[in-house]
Amino acid sequence: MSPSLSLPTRRPERLLILGSCLTVVVIVGVVTALLIREHANTLQTAKRTANNITQLIDADVLRNVELYDMALKGLISATERSDLQGVSANIRHLVLFDRSAAAPYKGDILLLDANGEVIADSSLLIPKKGNFADRDYFQVHRATPDVGLYISRPFSARCICDDQWRIAFSRRVSAPDGRFQGVAVASMRLSYFQQLFSNLSIGSNSTINLINQQGILLAQQPMLELDMVDKDLSLRPNVARMLKEHNGSFRGVSSVDRQERLYSFSSVGNLPLIVAVAVSTDEVFAQWKRAALLISLATGVLCIGLLWLSWMLSKELRRRHRAEQVLSELAATDALTGVANRRTLDERLHLEWDRAQRSTEPLTVLMIDVDHFKAFNDRHGHQGGDAALRTVAQVIEDNIRRPADLAARYGGEEFAVVLPHTDAKGAWLIAEHIRSSVEHLPRVAGDDQPITVSIGMSTWQKHSRMSLEDLLLKADQALYEAKHSGRNRTMDAATRPL
Ligand code: GH3
Ligand code: MG
Ligand code: MG
Repeated sequence: MSPSLSLPTRRPERLLILGSCLTVVVIVGVVTALLIREHANTLQTAKRTANNITQLIDADVLRNVELYDMALKGLISATERSDLQGVSANIRHLVLFDRSAAAPYKGDILLLDANGEVIADSSLLIPKKGNFADRDYFQVHRATPDVGLYISRPFSARCICDDQWRIAFSRRVSAPDGRFQGVAVASMRLSYFQQLFSNLSIGSNSTINLINQQGILLAQQPMLELDMVDKDLSLRPNVARMLKEHNGSFRGVSSVDRQERLYSFSSVGNLPLIVAVAVSTDEVFAQWKRAALLISLATGVLCIGLLWLSWMLSKELRRRHRAEQVLSELAATDALTGVANRRTLDERLHLEWDRAQRSTEPLTVLMIDVDHFKAFNDRHGHQGGDAALRTVAQVIEDNIRRPADLAARYGGEEFAVVLPHTDAKGAWLIAEHIRSSVEHLPRVAGDDQPITVSIGMSTWQKHSRMSLEDLLLKADQALYEAKHSGRNRTMDAATRPL
């Protein structure tokens, strides 16, 4: 059997690689979870901000629509006063339009009769002639008595001015018996909304929109396309969703520029208006993307570094293992013959002795000495002697087969063989095989003498009262006996003549 000790295990290297891979997986997992959480937080914050903007606009629009409504209600209630017929046109004008001054961006406030003719105008004492029977609000009020405050579609003012786009707030004027008597209407420049929206900063590629319940665009800041006011957007999927849900937020791709945006929208009070803030998701996530890229890069470098270090370390461990293996083999081996050395023999003898004591299995020791080796050395020189010793060692190795058997160089031209679980009968056969094999080795050139060995053997068996030292001594004595009784023979300590 080879004298080398059992191979050092590769477990530490595997554990190192496994541990590093696991650490990398954990690091990547934690970083991914953090980035996902941060992404959700960013989206949440953007939603909250967009929502705040819609609320702000809602409040402002609602307040101003209330001002218009107040002016209209004031105008209608003034028309119901019979005492106004007798006062001067000046006073009558003041009374009719006394609540109309507060509304911002106001156009004219008009009182139309049942035919759509202007009968009073907030801007002129003597109203200009004009008929508005073709306007949608006039027709709606004429057809339906209980519309309340009606907000018209955008229309182009009849003046030649820069911001000609208007919408009208109107109320029906009814006689006490409910008959249609006309319409009180206030127009408002849509530039009011543009102005309101442009004061809010929402970032590039983002828009604020005001649409009515039919999906008609009233205002957009900044304008994505030219001439968007009064466009029917109700068939655009994002607008259709807002018209259906009235309040909420979602992420959607714009059908105009194919860009993804975060849409936050809400109805303006009970009015048929919807404010929608569309924030570019590129803008929303720009900072997160930059941070995510940096963190991912840093994590990647860290993980690659960790794996590289582990790989280098495991390579070093492997190299050390190999070196230790070689060293331990060298420390356990006899340099000349390659069989186990004296140190290994002593260790193994003690080990097997203890094991035999526990198991009560027999243990046999062979002591093998080359015959007349001094003379062989004289004939063939020291080099020839060394070669012969290597050959004898090889023969001994070849004749022991069990893993627990051990052949060792005891010293000089003397060898020892430890045969655990082997009784005297079995050991005798092995010894005789060794002896006979050595005897039948091919002769060394120019020598008519064969190389022979004498073998002394001793067996420990259950109930035999001897120590390990006794066992070795008896094997030695048997060897001595074999020498004296003619050499080239095996002598068993148990059967040798006393
Ligand atoms: P015997 O049959 O009684 O054993 O006679 P022997 O000559 O073998 O015994 P002896 O003890 O007188 O001589 C042993 C010789 O073995 C002496 C020494 O030169 C030789 N020897 C011991 N170790 C080595 C070695 O490593 N290499 C060589 N070439 N010879 C060795
Ligand atoms: Mg000797
Ligand atoms: Mg000898």
